[in-house]
Amino acid sequence: MTILAASILAESLDHGLAQASAASEQGADMVEFRLDIFPNDPDAIARLITQSPLPCTITCRPKWEGGKFQGSEDERLKVLAIAAKHNPAHIDIELNAFRRSAAGREIIDSLVSHPEDEKANTPDLIISSHDFDKRPADLLQQLEFMAEQDCCSIIKLVWHAHSLKDNLEAFELLLSPHKPTVALCMGEFGLPSRILAKKFDAFLSFASINDTSATAPGQTSVEEMIRLYRWKKINNRTAVLGVIGYPIGHSLSPHIFNAGFDQTDYNGTYLPLPISPEYEQFKDVIESWISFRPLRFRGASVTIPHKENLIRFVSEKGGRIDPLAKAIGAANTLSIKADGSVRASNTDCMAALDGLCNAIDITRQQLDDASIAVIGAGGVARAVVAGFAQYSSNVTIYNRTLTRAEALADDFNEHPVVENQACRSIKALSLDQLPISTHDIYINCTSVGMYPNTDESPLNPLPDSANENTVFFDTVYNPINTMLLRQAAQRGCVTVSGIEMFIRQAAEQFQIWTGKTPPLDLFRSVMIKHL
Ligand code: NAP
Repeated sequence: MTILAASILAESLDHGLAQASAASEQGADMVEFRLDIFPNDPDAIARLITQSPLPCTITCRPKWEGGKFQGSEDERLKVLAIAAKHNPAHIDIELNAFRRSAAGREIIDSLVSHPEDEKANTPDLIISSHDFDKRPADLLQQLEFMAEQDCCSIIKLVWHAHSLKDNLEAFELLLSPHKPTVALCMGEFGLPSRILAKKFDAFLSFASINDTSATAPGQTSVEEMIRLYRWKKINNRTAVLGVIGYPIGHSLSPHIFNAGFDQTDYNGTYLPLPISPEYEQFKDVIESWISFRPLRFRGASVTIPHKENLIRFVSEKGGRIDPLAKAIGAANTLSIKADGSVRASNTDCMAALDGLCNAIDITRQQLDDASIAVIGAGGVARAVVAGFAQYSSNVTIYNRTLTRAEALADDFNEHPVVENQACRSIKALSLDQLPISTHDIYINCTSVGMYPNTDESPLNPLPDSANENTVFFDTVYNPINTMLLRQAAQRGCVTVSGIEMFIRQAAEQFQIWTGKTPPLDLFRSVMIKHL
C-alpha cells in the first residue's frame, strides 16, 4: 500500500508537531520531518519524533541537494544519528552524500536496519537522489547503485520533468522495482507521478500540508491528493483522464469530473495535463501516454491551444472524428479505447445550444427564425455558429476583427454543417454595429468580461432595442455573473450564464468516457462552489 507522506520543513518543536497534527487530520499516513532549519537540540529532536502523531521519516537536506541546512557534513550526520536513536520509521540520506565519503557511509550504515537484522526499532534507510533541473543522465546507474547497497531499504529517485512524458519513466521504474521504490517528477509536468504513484505501487508519495508549505516544486497538498484526486480510491485498474491545455493550472475540470467519478463510483482520476503549444509536443505526449498500456489513459478534455491539434492527431492516427467536430474544425474531447484507438468529438456546440434552450425553456426547434447575434469569431464562436447553422435561425457574427467574422460566416455558408442546411445565410459585421442592432438572442463568445477583467463587457451600453424578451447568454463563466449579464438583468432582460454551457460540455464528455449518466446538478454545484 503506497504511503501518503506530508513533507514538513520543521522550524521548531511546536511548529513541527502542529504541522504533523494537521497532516494527520488531513489523512496523511506519515510525515517527513526535514530538520534543515530545526534547532540543534537533541531533546527537541527526540520529542519531535516520539510525540509525532504519525510515523516519521527524518532527513536533513543540505543546500547542495536543494535543502536549507548550512552546517558541515559532520554536523549533519550528527543530527541524523541523534534522530536515529529515537526510532523514526526511516532515515533519508542523499545518494551524493552516501557515495562521497566512506566515513559517512559507515556512520549511516551503523544507524539503520539491514536485511539480516533481527532487532526491531531500527530505522530503514532511504537513499535519495534529487535533480532540480532535469532527468539525470545516469538515472539507471543511480538506481543500480542504490539497489546494490545492503543498508538501503528504499530507493528514492526524484527529478524535474520537462514534459508529461517524463512521468512514464517514473512509472516504468515502479513497475519493475529492485526494492521498494519512490520515483517522482517535480515541476508543473510532474503532478501525475505524485498522484499515480499509488496506481503503480510506489513505496510512498509526498504532499504538502497547504499551498505555501510545499517542500518541492509541483507538490500538491494532502487535502487535494485525497479529496480532489481521489488518492484513497486509486488502484492498478484506475482509469486516467484529464484536461489538456497550456497553461492549465486553474482549470475547474478536475473538481467536477472527480466529484462525478465519486458520485457514480467510476474507477478513475482526472488530472491537469499541461502540454506546451506545439503540435509535435502534443502528438509525442499523447502517443506515449496511449501506448503505455498499464496507465489506462482513457481520455481528455482538450482546450486552448490544442483543439485543432486534436483533430489533426486523430486524423493522422486514422481514428474517428465526429461529424460536428469535423465541420467545426476543432474538437474538445479525446476518447481512447482499451485497444488504443482514438476518437475526437466536439461537445461545446450542443452544450451551447442545450444550455441556452434549457435555461429559457424552449426546444431546439424553437430556435428556427430566431434572430441571433454571435459576438466573437474565435473557437467558441465557431462551435456556437455550427450549432445554430443546423436550424433556420438568422445568425449575425460581430467581431472586433471584421475579416475573422467574415471568414467564419463564409466558411459555414460555403460548407453547410448538415446536408440541406436550413440556416439562412450567416452575416458578418464589425463589433461597432452591435449597439445599434436588434436581435432576440445575444451570445458573447469573446473573452471580454472574464476574470480578472470583470468590469468589462463586449456590449456596453446594451442596444436600445433590448427589452424583457431579449436573451443575453454569456459563454464566459468566470465570473458567473458577468458585467454583460448584470447590465442585462438591470434592463429586465433574460440572462443565461456560461456555466450552463460548461457543465453540459463536461456532461457529454463524462457520458462518452464512463457510459454513465452525468450528474449535472452536482457539476453545477461544484462549479458554483469553486468560482
Ligand atoms: P479565442 O478563439 O481566442 O477567441 C477570442 C475572441 O474574443 C475573438 O473573437 C477576439 O476577437 C475576441 N476578443 C478578445 N479580446 C477582445 C476585446 N478586448 N474586445 C473585443 N473582442 C475581443 O477564444 P475562444 O476559445 O473562442 O474562447 C472565448 C471565451 O469563451 C473564453 O474566454 C471563455 O471565457 C469562453 N468559453 C466558455 C466555455 C463554456 O463552456 N462556457 C468553454 C470555452 C470557452 P478578435 O478576432 O478581434 O481577436
